Amino acid sequence: MRVGVLTSGGDAPGMNAAIMAVVKAASYYNMEVIGIKYGYKGLLNGDIHKLTYSDVENIADKGGTILKTARCMEFMEGSGIEKAVEVLKNLDINSLIVIGGEGSFKGADRLHKLGVNVIGIPGTIDNDLRYTDYCIGFDTTLNTVLECIGKIKDTDYSHDKTTIVEVMGRYCGDLALYSALAGGGEIISTPEKKLDFDTICSKLSLRMNSGKNDNIIIITERMYDLQELQRYIEEKLKTSVRTTILGFIQRGGNPSGFDRVLASKMGIKAVDLLNNGYSGLAVGVKNNKIIDIEFEDVNNEIVDKQDSYDMLDILLH
Ligand code: ATP
Repeated sequence: MRVGVLTSGGDAPGMNAAIMAVVKAASYYNMEVIGIKYGYKGLLNGDIHKLTYSDVENIADKGGTILKTARCMEFMEGSGIEKAVEVLKNLDINSLIVIGGEGSFKGADRLHKLGVNVIGIPGTIDNDLRYTDYCIGFDTTLNTVLECIGKIKDTDYSHDKTTIVEVMGRYCGDLALYSALAGGGEIISTPEKKLDFDTICSKLSLRMNSGKNDNIIIITERMYDLQELQRYIEEKLKTSVRTTILGFIQRGGNPSGFDRVLASKMGIKAVDLLNNGYSGLAVGVKNNKIIDIEFEDVNNEIVDKQDSYDMLDILLH
């Protein structure tokens, strides 16, 4: 069996550890692995090279992805998908492992429906694939966010300041939620539990009136005009506020031990599924067990985060 592997969408720390596990597991089952560079874009261009056991021995601790990644509009069009199937056939690649997020899985599902054997591995810092407790990259990014917030807190404490901190997540509030659960912030607003400006002000006012003058407000990206929010708080509470957008620093860095273990387990599971003739499945983790689920169901089986939000109410009361 000749297995292709690609990384697609946003890069996430731990993608290299997943590539390492895929190559080593494939070697164990005597399969050949072909690395496809730049995701679906590289697939359309036939940008490939063989990956051997020794190629991946020193990559598990590296951030980013050695295969590089890309977003590819051409692939999304009907003719693009058909071209990809043709390229795979010409290269004699009969199976594919796609490491990426929700969009990448949609593409993977379409390839599966056209007869390619495909397994998906969730790699995205946003943790927005909700069928799985964790995606590869989320834990590392959470640790980066906490480290950055810790540094902001030092200066906020010294100056009695409040800072609005915007974190990534796209339409998923997990980075903000888990940062606050880890004690990283005093007020949070996420797509799942969005606070209006007045509620943010009244929560902040309560804290300031009780003598807490340094506060972190954690906000998921894309929710507000942050300058407008900052001005609103400053005018309403007659206090000065800072805003920090953490940005792409959240994507980089060496993967955490948790992400590396998760990547190894998911990589091995993906190869195992292909070896047993399965296709059209995404691997994941639920209650500490590696699971698999049909691509079609990844948006139906949603991990409930309500208990985490309930606990946060206790922590931040
Ligand atoms: P991240 O969560 O890190 O952004 P992602 O996988 O969701 O990762 P996208 O940009 O949404 O990132 O998707 C990556 C690529 O997957 C796209 O550039 C496109 O080539 C392919 N893709 C996305 N949606 C579809 C779709 N509906 N059909 C076919 N291919 C798709």
